[in-house]
Amino acid sequence: MSRMFTVINEEFECLNCKTQVKPLAQGSCRNHCPNCFHSLHLDINPGDRAANCGGMLVPIGFEEHKKKGHMVIHRCQACGHVGRNKLAFDDPVQPDSFDEMVKLIQKFSYQQF
Ligand SMILES: [Zn+2]
Ligand SMILES: [Zn+2]
Repeated sequence: MSRMFTVINEEFECLNCKTQVKPLAQGSCRNHCPNCFHSLHLDINPGDRAANCGGMLVPIGFEEHKKKGHMVIHRCQACGHVGRNKLAFDDPVQPDSFDEMVKLIQKFSYQQF
């Protein structure tokens, strides 16, 4: 069996808030919860599931790119890896919560990372 065709854009349950996270409709790989933006450290590049860590990726900030739009910045609780993942506020199935992002940004503005 080749792993080349493994479906990686799959539904999963968020370990932080228990949201059932559905795959993105647009074919890109979601690796975070649209409600609380937590994720698991499974990827080296988005969707490749090549990291053997499995630690909880906690959102530590957000960025806005001119081309890519909004990105969430994660830090792994287990190994300290910092990574980014694109947000999808326009996903027709289960968009990322813009309101929750705003709440987190307000919270982060009082903390130094
Ligand atoms: Zn969540
Ligand atoms: Zn990790």
